[in-house]
Amino acid sequence: MSVTANADLKIAAESKTAMASRLAPISGRSPGTLIVHEIYRSLQGESLWAGWPCVFVRLTACQLRCTYCDTAHAFNQGKPMSVDEVYQAALAYKTPMIELTGGEPLLQHEVYDLMTRLCDAGKRVLIETSGSISTLGVDHRVHVILDVKTPGSGESQAMVWSNLTHLKPIDEVKFVICSKADFDWSVEIVDEYNLTSFCPVHFSPSHGSVGLEELADWILASNRPIRFQMQLHKVIWGAETRGV
Ligand code: SF4
Repeated sequence: MSVTANADLKIAAESKTAMASRLAPISGRSPGTLIVHEIYRSLQGESLWAGWPCVFVRLTACQLRCTYCDTAHAFNQGKPMSVDEVYQAALAYKTPMIELTGGEPLLQHEVYDLMTRLCDAGKRVLIETSGSISTLGVDHRVHVILDVKTPGSGESQAMVWSNLTHLKPIDEVKFVICSKADFDWSVEIVDEYNLTSFCPVHFSPSHGSVGLEELADWILASNRPIRFQMQLHKVIWGAETRGV
């Protein structure tokens, strides 16, 4: 075996070990159980629903490691709760909007049952997902907020591109822009998949990498119906505050 092939095998083995370690916090959970990082009520900070009161159910673990991740605390910390316990805890806030987030909420298949139950209860249900897991099984009443991982995220190779071909009008797509190269790449994806004809498309600046005015200027110059997005909760409570 060549030196290159040996190196490839070593990298593959290391990747497998890293992935197993990322999924360890949710593997081995009991059937019908979710590993939950936190449940809280705040103002929705992103999407077209920004500004509205919303209950956030943040599930533990993510298989990705984006360069700009601001929820690394959800990678490991969490406690097991039955789907019914999560459902009751979310309803107890008596708030019309509930978002499933993470981490990557679609990693735990029990979340599909939870979303359907919350929809049946008359709630507006949102899920924020990384784009790296198929969204095909998600209840059609759920608003999918789909991230598209740019090259600057370090995770664009993980994208499930078919997710962009079955978007619904109630869904939204989000790009976090880390540089002008990221911006240009993102506009190409928007055009290639004709995304703005299906649902709202948001571009957000990666904090510390791209200036607000800079991104605003790029969007205007692109002459595309792309929506500039800031994280409202960080404007109100600051970038480091958790549980808001
Ligand atoms: S997908 Fe989200 S939670 Fe996972 S690493 Fe990326 S930013 Fe963090």
